[in-house]
Amino acid sequence: MKLDFYGAAGCVTGSSHLLKVKDKRILLDCGMYQGKDEKEKDNNTFNFIPKDIDYLILSHAHIDHSGRIPLLYKQGFKGRIIATEATKDLCEVMLEDSGHIQEMETEWVNRKRMRKGQASLEPLYTAKMAKLSMYLFEGYPYDKWIELFDGFKFRFRDAGHLLGSAIIEMLIDEDGKETKLVYSGDLGNKDMPILRDPTIVENADYVIIESTYGNKLHGVFKNDLKQLVNIIDETFKRGGNVIIPSFAVGRTQEVLYALNSYVENKELKNVKVYVDSPLAIEATEIFDYHSNDFDEDTQVLIEKGDDPFEFEGLIFSKSTEESLEVNKIKKGAVIISASGMCEAGRIKHHLKHNLWRNESSVVFVGYQAEGTLGRAIVDGAEKVKIFGEEIAVNAKIYNLEGLSGHADRNGLVSWLEGFKEKPKAILLVHGEKESQESFNKLLRDKGYNSFIMKHGETFKPGQEKEESLVKNKIINLLDSIKDLDSIEVDLLLEKIKEELNS
Ligand SMILES: [Zn+2]
Ligand SMILES: [Zn+2]
Repeated sequence: MKLDFYGAAGCVTGSSHLLKVKDKRILLDCGMYQGKDEKEKDNNTFNFIPKDIDYLILSHAHIDHSGRIPLLYKQGFKGRIIATEATKDLCEVMLEDSGHIQEMETEWVNRKRMRKGQASLEPLYTAKMAKLSMYLFEGYPYDKWIELFDGFKFRFRDAGHLLGSAIIEMLIDEDGKETKLVYSGDLGNKDMPILRDPTIVENADYVIIESTYGNKLHGVFKNDLKQLVNIIDETFKRGGNVIIPSFAVGRTQEVLYALNSYVENKELKNVKVYVDSPLAIEATEIFDYHSNDFDEDTQVLIEKGDDPFEFEGLIFSKSTEESLEVNKIKKGAVIISASGMCEAGRIKHHLKHNLWRNESSVVFVGYQAEGTLGRAIVDGAEKVKIFGEEIAVNAKIYNLEGLSGHADRNGLVSWLEGFKEKPKAILLVHGEKESQESFNKLLRDKGYNSFIMKHGETFKPGQEKEESLVKNKIINLLDSIKDLDSIEVDLLLEKIKEELNS
């Protein structure tokens, strides 16, 4: 077997890892580059020939893992796409939505290009192309072994990150030698609303693991949700609105789940909550349909007759007209809208109407990638550009980091500690440079043989020995020089060690 890292390698977005077993090519995820990565990498070209891919195993529906599937299809891929049932259903609405966004953005760019006398561009893919690619999808349940061909079988384990999200546990048999490869996908936080905790996998030879928060510790999910109640109270007293830019799929439903409980137990009274995102509305229906994938608490709630996505004062605004009405509201509204990183969609209108007002609040509830409008606001920009207009940032800005859908540093380590024996190598993907370097150092200090995978890099079993052997030799050598006992030498050596570990 051989692994080529072609996405989310040295960055967060664009997840795509190509696994070669015998004469078969299996793609693990086919994500889109977003934010800063989108500017540095090219979403339009693959580092392989799409029609040569036999299978695509999809970890979950987020666009940074699934977003280039319609393009893969457009460029000739006709193999099988295998995902969990819920991932398949979510992809149906998310990819089509993504196609619409591509079309709209290209139209906007083309209008500008036309005025300059330049030739018009094609969208990455259309909504129609997204719809067509859905014919290749096959949905499977969690935990069931699926044999794709002689010598390769795998199963989905619940990753607790998004409805339908999965860890991919693979068994590869080549010439009678069995290798177990585990791909974490995106790993969830413990005790998240609605979702189960990430499944502990007990053994693996090689592990590909995400490292989004390899250098961070989150607050506690529940405490952050509690803080949201206070923010809503204070903002309403000031006479403003609470704007929540939220991923339409996943985070929106988790926030609704929490607000539902606060409304039901009367901690929140007379609150109007608007969900202003057609995608979020469709996704909420899919969540309802897949309630058997919810955690026990949520299932008990439903059995008692409480629909977590329905409460007094909750309004779904589907049409453009309804959305425009929400824009006119000056105070007393909680507005949940997408996209989560404020790059597209109706959220931009709500920010335009509220960001400049002292009375309003903007509450971030998810990861903000470098280079996005959301990240700029979180990082304290005083002014931002929305629809070409400069808008002052006067509203109170909150970043509830505990609400992340990703495991933090401790969560990642505790998941790795679930392996009864340390895997032969840990391959780090899906993280920004600082986070990965810090996490890699921590893992090496804990005795793991970990590596940060770079874009275009290849990994073969056994390779870890050569690399670690050389590294360990140098590290031992450095330790012996340390006896020289001078502070400067110590500092210098530490620096070299750090370099080597990164
Ligand atoms: Zn994800
Ligand atoms: Zn991701």
